[in-house]
Amino acid sequence: MTEKTKRFPLTLSSVVEKQGAAKRRPGEAASSQTAARNAVELGKRELPNTASSKPVAKPVSPSLTTAARLAGASAAVPSASTGTRAAPLVSEGVRKAMVERVAKQGVRDTKVLAAMMEVQRHLFMEPGLASQAYIDASLPIGYHQTISQPYIVARMIEIMRANRLGGELNRVLEIGTGCGYQAAVLSLVAKEVFSIERIKPLHELAKSNLRPMRIANIRLHYGDGMLGLPQAAPFDGIILAAAGLEVPQALLEQLTIGGRLVAPVGARHQVLQLIERTSQTEWTSSTLEACHFVPLRPGTV
Ligand code: SAH
Repeated sequence: MTEKTKRFPLTLSSVVEKQGAAKRRPGEAASSQTAARNAVELGKRELPNTASSKPVAKPVSPSLTTAARLAGASAAVPSASTGTRAAPLVSEGVRKAMVERVAKQGVRDTKVLAAMMEVQRHLFMEPGLASQAYIDASLPIGYHQTISQPYIVARMIEIMRANRLGGELNRVLEIGTGCGYQAAVLSLVAKEVFSIERIKPLHELAKSNLRPMRIANIRLHYGDGMLGLPQAAPFDGIILAAAGLEVPQALLEQLTIGGRLVAPVGARHQVLQLIERTSQTEWTSSTLEACHFVPLRPGTV
């Protein structure tokens, strides 16, 4: 597989359909996803049977070298809106420490670690929270929703990439855009990223967060992700950033053969579920580690 290095800023044409800038609602705490719980669960993480098919098992330091290079390349994001947020507190060093932590927690995929190093997570948060952007926690983004914990973002993408297609990802679909952070990370490991959000102001927020980053290969959609995106299917990978009691059938039908879907499933007790499509009519499913996400809900608001 060719390792294509994409750099920020990239040209962005796709993210923007409309200029309607969204304002986050301050002070709206959201937090069913807790870092503490995830940290506890990390200790008892089970690897999937398929984990052995993952690329390499060593690369902590090489990956960080790559990541550091990528971060250097992305240091200058020339945007007025980002200027005030690029404080020393949220420098590359802090992001590097985050990536090192994620690697220590067990994420081995160098391409994922490099992508985590490149995306400036603090730019997806309101300025008041930017100094916490690189801690190992999910944080509120308004409307009772959260930006996912860095570890779980990396882990889900790593699982999705460890497919029978050699990690090749043409189209991927994310359900639950939120602030757009995970979509930005995905844009560095897949040719095309489609992401759906059901809460209009968050869809708008993601657009305004991503616009200055000029990422050409992200398409944001406002709608009910439980229905998937039949007009863009099939997808080599699907990631759900919100937990349902089961994975919607429509999404299974929109996977390519050999493609992988990764989703949190459950109510109070949730687990990551990996579903792989093995033929036109067959899917395999395995249960991975415990996790905690906001709920997957039908319809739009
Ligand atoms: N991907 C985000 C996480 C967002 S939190 C990140 O990068 O951190 C999960 C998001 O899923 C919320 O914004 C929530 O509104 C959204 N969501 C829940 N149910 C949904 C559905 N049926 N369709 C689309 N989005 C949904």
